[in-house]
Amino acid sequence: MPVRERLLLILPDKDIYEYLCTGCSESLGQREVTLADKRLAALRGSRRRHR
Ligand SMILES: [Zn+2]
Repeated sequence: MPVRERLLLILPDKDIYEYLCTGCSESLGQREVTLADKRLAALRGSRRRHR
């Protein structure tokens, strides 16, 4: 089954996402994205777009 990512909680220094099964909406785990992670992702993204 594919999974769906849902924004669960927004904290000052990080966001917490929850993974849900698209079939039965069962929670499959959580992921924390820190601000540092977001900045890195944005940097990588802009580099990719410029190429
Ligand atoms: Zn399921």
